[in-house]
Amino acid sequence: MPHLVVVGAGIVGLSTAWSAQRRGWKVTLVDRDFEGDRASHGNAGGIAVTECVPLSLAGMGLKPLRWLLDPLGPLAIRPVHALGLFSWSRALYKVSEPKNFARIGDALAALNRRALPDFETLLADIGLTADLHKRGALTVYETRKAFEEDKSSWQFKKDRGVRFRLVGVDELRELEPGLAPIFQQAVMAEDWAHINDPKRIVDVLRQHVQAQGAEFISGEAVSLLLDGRDAAAVQLGDGQTVRGDKVIVAAGAWSARLAKTIGERALLESERGYNTTLPHSATRLNREVIFAERMFVATPLSIGLRIGGAAEFAGLDAPANYKRSEALLELARRYLPSLDEHDAQQWMGNRPTTPDSLPVIGTSFKSDRVLYAFGHGHLGLTQAATTALLLGDLLEGRRPPVDLTPYSIKRFKGL
Ligand SMILES: Cc1cc2nc3c(=O)[nH]c(=O)nc-3n(C[C@H](O)[C@H](O)[C@H](O)COP(=O)(O)OP(=O)(O)OC[C@H]3O[C@@H](n4cnc5c(N)ncnc54)[C@H](O)[C@@H]3O)c2cc1C
Repeated sequence: MPHLVVVGAGIVGLSTAWSAQRRGWKVTLVDRDFEGDRASHGNAGGIAVTECVPLSLAGMGLKPLRWLLDPLGPLAIRPVHALGLFSWSRALYKVSEPKNFARIGDALAALNRRALPDFETLLADIGLTADLHKRGALTVYETRKAFEEDKSSWQFKKDRGVRFRLVGVDELRELEPGLAPIFQQAVMAEDWAHINDPKRIVDVLRQHVQAQGAEFISGEAVSLLLDGRDAAAVQLGDGQTVRGDKVIVAAGAWSARLAKTIGERALLESERGYNTTLPHSATRLNREVIFAERMFVATPLSIGLRIGGAAEFAGLDAPANYKRSEALLELARRYLPSLDEHDAQQWMGNRPTTPDSLPVIGTSFKSDRVLYAFGHGHLGLTQAATTALLLGDLLEGRRPPVDLTPYSIKRFKGL
């Protein structure tokens, strides 16, 4: 039986383990803390299949400057991290040429197009089909002007097959009576879905792959080793070496460090996001709502109403600044009156974000024994099952149904 070692037991690593097991591989998972917190636990729970606009296009014009000037606005860079962000920002600038937008949008849409059915296959296998709610998502605008400014983004999505329809003020009130009556326009994306609780998916998936025979090794992976042509291995901090026929790096925002140990460059940043979960306010909304001007979302999870967003670049080790969670909650009070804030829980997580908004999926160019599955940014939950199934094809030596060229780690050579 072929043996796969997966580094990282977040949603991407666990999904990859699930997919490999379905194809008859023995799997060993390595994680420094199987029960610990991770991006995959506290995210907004959206299966955001409509999101194919690259970060570089979304942030065009003067908007990012305005955001940066607001200390608790949607975008922040910690001054001590500014230097560390240089190569990543330079690459973001490079891909901000209009000729790249269509290429990136197409590549995101190619994954998103199959993301929901792939995710449903995974949920069915682990017995969590009922945790998925296919109720669409509403993007709401306080002003017509903001909607007009966003029209090109919607057109960009439409050009890539994304379905949506305009929702007027009266229908919005019927669909979401819990919202303050201040919105002038809304857009419904019917194909969007949300789940009950991202942590529950991770926990049940972990138990599932373990029950299917996966071995779990706790430890910090410090480097990848290329053991000749027949095997690959992972060196752990305690000196242990874990060998397999193939190794998949799915270590979220920490993955670039591991790729570097075999001389491969990936531009990856931790784009930190914040939220607050209100356990007694889950029923305030019927579906996920995206507040367009303020760039945050609210999702009615089974564990509470989760209000979050923000993009903070502060590196992997800086302490969380929960004032960001508070700032988002303050905004939510305006849009969702009389929220029950008892037992509110604040959270911060590291989105693994590349400058071109595309994940890294595919084989290393140093060795076909090493594969990558990281860098999913805002869409890791959405694209985890698809990533895992595509990698499953590579493990079997089959050509995946999606061309993986745009997601190759090779692309960072030119950035
Ligand atoms: C506020 C917020 C909201 C979000 N909302 C959504 C959403 O609605 N929909 C969506 O699709 N996505 C969303 N995301 C993004 C999504 O959460 C991430 O893209 C996804 O969780 C990344 O999963 P991962 O498995 O790659 O990484 P992680 O969940 O970070 O897992 C990485 C794992 O690797 C382990 N690890 C790292 N380095 C090592 C090492 N050297 N040795 C051993 N183990 C290691 C860690 O312990 C961890 O378990 C959101 C993110 C945030 C922060």
